Parts: sequence; structure tokens; C-alpha cells
Amino acid sequence: MAFDYDLFVIGGGSGGVRAARVASGDHGARVALAEEYRMGGTCVIRGCVPKKLMVFASEYRHINKDARAYGWDLEVKGFDWTVFHAQLENELNRLEGAYRNTLKNAGVETFDQRATVKDAHTVRLADGREVTAKHILIATGGTPFVPEFEGSDLAITSNEIFHMKALPKRALIVGGGYIASEFACILNGMGVETSQYYRGAQILRGFDEEARGHIATQMIASGVNLQCGTDVLRLEKTDTGIRAVATNGTEDEFDIVMYATGRKPNVAGLGLEDVGVRLGKKGEIEVDDWQQTSVPSIFAVGDVTDRINLTPIAIREGHAFADTVFGGQKRKADWDLVPSAVFTQPEFGTVGKTEEEAEAEGPIEVYSATFRPMQTLFAGRQDRVLMKLVVCAQTRRVLGCHIVAPHAGEMIQLAGIAVKMGATKEDFDRTVAVHPSMAEELVTLRKPVRKS
Ligand code: NDP
Repeated sequence: MAFDYDLFVIGGGSGGVRAARVASGDHGARVALAEEYRMGGTCVIRGCVPKKLMVFASEYRHINKDARAYGWDLEVKGFDWTVFHAQLENELNRLEGAYRNTLKNAGVETFDQRATVKDAHTVRLADGREVTAKHILIATGGTPFVPEFEGSDLAITSNEIFHMKALPKRALIVGGGYIASEFACILNGMGVETSQYYRGAQILRGFDEEARGHIATQMIASGVNLQCGTDVLRLEKTDTGIRAVATNGTEDEFDIVMYATGRKPNVAGLGLEDVGVRLGKKGEIEVDDWQQTSVPSIFAVGDVTDRINLTPIAIREGHAFADTVFGGQKRKADWDLVPSAVFTQPEFGTVGKTEEEAEAEGPIEVYSATFRPMQTLFAGRQDRVLMKLVVCAQTRRVLGCHIVAPHAGEMIQLAGIAVKMGATKEDFDRTVAVHPSMAEELVTLRKPVRKS
């Protein structure tokens, strides 16, 4: 049977664009891609990229004090959201254009509309057209999840936060994961009175406990009203804002309430179950190591499969899929020892096992140091850095590395190479320190602080 395309990709985010570009540009497949919102997907348009730009914007709050300590006669009067927001929109437009060019240059045909799956080889476009493809790739990502409760419709999500017309005076962030913690720090940095309510005992569940505690302490010290063990019972509209009635007995009022209580796979209305694609409990598309679903012609990559929900993973999965199916090279992504960063303030970089995970598997040694870094200490700030290595007592391998520090994301990228290569504590030790730097602590940690 002759198909219109070799590959039809649904979703123009990180994973879908990479798969389309490689399949068409590198392997010569006839490829089309449909995107219903803006090209670039969550990461570029309403996730990692605008979030990180907001982190940068919010970090300038210390500029007056720091610059003066360093001898600069500087006066910064305040933060203007509208100026920043206009610049942010320009940048997102530029990036969206770059994504479009990438696809165009690779010979991918694009459709700016929603597409759904009609059968194993047919895609239905929103304008009524139907096209056929030998393979279909679902790369539709995830979408914010907000629990249902009284007044939940008053809450916004990370999708809307980038479109705020003005900066609120008072904000409540609900949740304790990446997004909640990052946005609590961003808004606090921008001068918003910020509260964060999290139902559990400590934010950033699943990460190294010592690092979680370190981050939470610093966030509180920098002004975030972090309330753990607290959930919202109901939200009420008032004349002057939104009242949050919470389990800790407070009834405080806010201008915005943002829910960051997780994301769910974006599969609604795609028609997947009707054609026999098996979905998991959360609606995630079940795939094998080669991204193939229960329907052999249909594949899926990225957050819609709910494995490791990070852009670089979606990109790796999309690339491996294209090489496997169109490049004659059977390849799968690698989900082991994935370094990542949480852009809280302070920033957190992490790779490998937490102390708790490693301890449960065998004897370990823990090396850690906390200190005030030179740059901000000089300016009279109290910020503290944490550098931590979790080492296997038997093999001496570094099982985990956890860094809470300015630029921790940059540091963990490099430490991640060593950990991935199987470096031992002694390999770290024989690497000469870069002085004076924060990262030199990683190669000068002499005595374990704990053994178990
Ligand atoms: P997470 O799954 O990380 O966190 C969700 C949070 O919401 C948890 O604290 C959870 O609590 C809480 N929660 C869940 N359901 C409810 C509920 N019904 N009521 C109250 N609280 C609830 O999700 P995020 O939305 O923060 O992020 C989604 C994904 O996006 C992440 O998993 C990550 O992979 C990715 N991401 C990565 C970033 C990065 O790499 N820097 C940045 C942003 C996102 P509990 O812990 O008790 O379950």
C-alpha cells in the first residue's frame, strides 16, 4: 500500500521535532508533523526555556546590594514585569521560528492544527483532511493536572503563569515538586509576597533528603513562606483576590493561586484506545525500549509515555526512534544515571542515587560539605552551598552526586560524565582542584561524614 508519508508526527515539541528532523533530514524519509499550539512544545513555549529566563530575571534582585559591596555605585529601582514580558515574548517568537526553520530545512511538511489517530496508518486533521503514513509517532507531551475541589477553577497552572499581564502582589503556589518549588523562588525573587503550600513533610520528594532540607531552609531564609504539611481545602473569590482556606487553619488572600500538582500524559481525544494503543493507569502510552506501542505502526516518545519527563530524554528517545526505524540502526535511549537540575534558588543539580536509595542497597560512605561561597559571602549574603558524594563502600564508585549551589546545573552536567563513566571516589580525589571555585570541593572531600 502506498502511504502519503513514511512518518506522521503528532506534536511539535522536543521529542517530535527531533524525530521528524532526523527521519527526514538524516534518513531521507517523507515526514509530516502536526502541532495544534505553538511549534517548540512545552519546553520552549511554556516550560523550561521561559521558566529559566524568569529565573534569570528574578536573580537580579540582589544586584543592588551585591554590586555595591563590589564597589559599584548602582541604583536599581525595581522590577518591571511588562518590560521583561515583552522581551520574553520576542525571544519565544524567535525560538519558535528557529524550530520551524529546522523542520523546513530538513524537508518536513508541517500542519498548524490538531491531529488525531483514525487507524493504525491514518491521521485525521482538524480541517477534515485525512492522511496516511507507514508510521505514526505520538509526541504530544503532558498537561498540568489540577485536583478537583471547591474553587479549583480559580487556580491557574504553569501554562497561564507566562501570560500574566501584571505581576501579582501576593501569590500562592501549591505543590512541592520541580515546578512549584521553582516558581515559588521565581516569584519571591521578583518581589512577590510568595507562599508555597505542600501537603507532605518536605518539598522535592524523591530527591536526596539532605539536599531537600538544604534547599527548603534557604528558600525560607530568602523569604518564601513555605508551609509543609499544608493543603488547600477550598478557594473563594473575594472582592480583592482569592481566599485560600487551608488545612493549617489559615484563610489568607492572594492575587493568584498557581497549582503545580503534577502533569498528566496528553492523550485526551487522540483516539488511541479506539485503535488499540495500550495506555497505563495515568493514561501514559505504554511503549517498549524502542518506543513502539501495542500497535506496531504507532510509536510514542517523551512525556506522553511518562517515563523520565525531561526534555533531553524526549530528544534522545525521538532520535533513537528515527535511527531505528528509518536509519537501519537499532538504537534505544539510555535512561540510566540521568543528570538533572531543579532551578530553585539555590539551584540543585543531581545525578545518580540519593543517600537513602544507596543506603538501602548496601554499605556506603557519604562525603559532604556546606559552606558560604566566596562571591556572595563577600557581599554579606548568608547563602550556603552543599556538595555531596554518595560512595559505594565496596566498589568505591560514586553512586550519587548532589550539588546545591549557584550554577549547580552547569556543574552537575560535568560531574555527570564522571559518574556515568563509573568514576570512583579516588578518581575524584586524584583530579586536581580548580581554585578558587565552588566545584573544587568535589575533589577535596577528605573524610566521610557518615558511613553505613
Ligand atoms: P511533580 O510530580 O514533580 O510534583 C507534583 C507535586 O504536587 C508533588 O509535590 C505532589 O505531592 C503534589 N501533588 C500531587 N497531587 C496533589 C494533590 N491532589 N493535592 C496536593 N498536592 C498534590 O510535578 P511538577 O508538576 O512539579 O512537574 C512535572 C514534571 O515536569 C516533573 O516530574 C519533571 O519531570 C518535569 N519538570 C522538570 C523540570 C526540571 O528539570 N528542572 C522543571 C519542571 C518540570 P506528593 O509529593 O505528596 O506526591
